[in-house]
Amino acid sequence: MGIKKIPLSTQIIAAMAIGVSWAFLQKPFPELIAFTTDWIKPLGKIFIKLLFLVAVPLVFSSLIVGMGGLKSVSELKKIGKYTFFIFLTTLVSATVIGLSLAYLISPGSKIETLAVDKATSEKIAALQQSESSDTFTGALAKIVPDNILHALSDNTMMLQVVIIAFILGIALSKMNGDSKTKILDALEAVQSWFTEVIHIVMALSPIGVFALVASLDLNAQVLLSLGLYMFTVVLGLAIMLFVVYPLCFTTFGKTGYLDFFSKSRAVLLMAFSTSSSNATLPLTLNVVKEKFNVPDNISNFVVSVGATINMDGTALYKCVAVYFIAQSLGVDLTLAQMGIIILTSILSTAGAAGIPGAGMITLVIILQTVGLPAEGIVLILAPDRLLDMFRTTVNVAGDISASLCVNGLAQGEKVD
Ligand code: ASP
Repeated sequence: MGIKKIPLSTQIIAAMAIGVSWAFLQKPFPELIAFTTDWIKPLGKIFIKLLFLVAVPLVFSSLIVGMGGLKSVSELKKIGKYTFFIFLTTLVSATVIGLSLAYLISPGSKIETLAVDKATSEKIAALQQSESSDTFTGALAKIVPDNILHALSDNTMMLQVVIIAFILGIALSKMNGDSKTKILDALEAVQSWFTEVIHIVMALSPIGVFALVASLDLNAQVLLSLGLYMFTVVLGLAIMLFVVYPLCFTTFGKTGYLDFFSKSRAVLLMAFSTSSSNATLPLTLNVVKEKFNVPDNISNFVVSVGATINMDGTALYKCVAVYFIAQSLGVDLTLAQMGIIILTSILSTAGAAGIPGAGMITLVIILQTVGLPAEGIVLILAPDRLLDMFRTTVNVAGDISASLCVNGLAQGEKVD
């Protein structure tokens, strides 16, 4: 059987296992360690660079398509207020749950020192010295962009790209006619173009994962930490799925606990196996309409915008991941930085496409924003494919739950 026939998740798990073995086996052989540093480590760097390469165009096009697809301003007003209320409530809950669990469980504390290069340790030292004295509006003034091309050309300005896309998306939703269709068509084309690029990058991910893992200075503590990290993410996701959503859809959506899970089981399994909210979208829409009887105008809007914007699982995962990376690098995060993590996580998640690995790519945004080295992503790459399956399931469950809630809330108001 050709290597292409082996599912990517299996390939990545194999690459991780080989990488881990390599990292341990090379220890007694200095020549082998030198070979890893000179020849294998750069492959990992290339993989990280490729992830960077697709991040800006993908975030930009996905977000504008999600926002701009609204049919009219009045539609935005009628359904939008409830939708964004529900999206925001669950997103904030997800990030707060994620950060709180990471704080309580402290998955990164088991790593005493992680070998980092000189440039990285300098960055960390600078980060530890920098006192955040900004007020909220002061911080906001810093992140609002004033030049589209400048923001698009700088990987460290991803947050600005998300903000620009938000502004352009809202403006597009206010437009009508030919120009709007043309812009949307063009951006949708860009989105699928870069989705293909993602497929190419993901196809290379076993090599990238191997190279990154093989050049890690692994020890038993690191592995224990990774286990704790995964446990923290999965526990947070389970709280969202089995506690937070049921609280929402039983309160606002007039739907019973078991009813929800029995009707949405197939969709959730599809989300789990594809790791893609976008791939699951047609099925999600169908179930929300046919099984839960949510009217078309509400289900179309909530589910399609939700697939891009409402990714609670991804937001929760990113908070845990950033906390874990900071801890592993010996950086104590301040309360202000945690606030920034929550804000950036919500904004960058809104800009992530519903495709496999998108959460991990946009994680770079948060690392950059709080001043952590993007290379820190190496630490959480290994279990990412697996965690992607769990967080995508939560993302999709969040869209179904939001549709039910918006429907319940809008019933008192005439929605046409
Ligand atoms: N795969 C996720 C989704 O499609 C996004 C992510 O990578 O977190 O919902």
